[in-house]
Amino acid sequence: MTTEKHSQLRHELRRDVAERQAGYRMRALKLFPHICARCAREFEGKRLKELTVHHKDFNHDNNPQDGSNWELLCIYCHDDEHAPDSLRSMGDGPVHEDLKKASPIVNPFAGLDGLLGK
Ligand SMILES: [Zn+2]
Ligand SMILES: [Zn+2]
Repeated sequence: MTTEKHSQLRHELRRDVAERQAGYRMRALKLFPHICARCAREFEGKRLKELTVHHKDFNHDNNPQDGSNWELLCIYCHDDEHAPDSLRSMGDGPVHEDLKKASPIVNPFAGLDGLLGK
């Protein structure tokens, strides 16, 4: 395989992952009212990017099309959801699962942060 082809393949792979992640967010935003399920704040327009999709079972690969595993949470409540008090005292603060997942390949989702709202 030529280097050129290889990098093209890698590019496509990254795009697939990015599309999948952006895809379920779009779908969740269509399914649910744009309200944080915890603090009940409403998000619209530019602020919509502060609303993120939480996976109720914490499994990002579990994306039923009816949205039964999703919950819309604002970035603050979402951080909270992933940070039990026992972890929070460790200092570094919560690392969101989206970021953890993206990190093995030198953060290909740098530009995606805004899109994902995190
Ligand atoms: Zn909230
Ligand atoms: Zn979550």
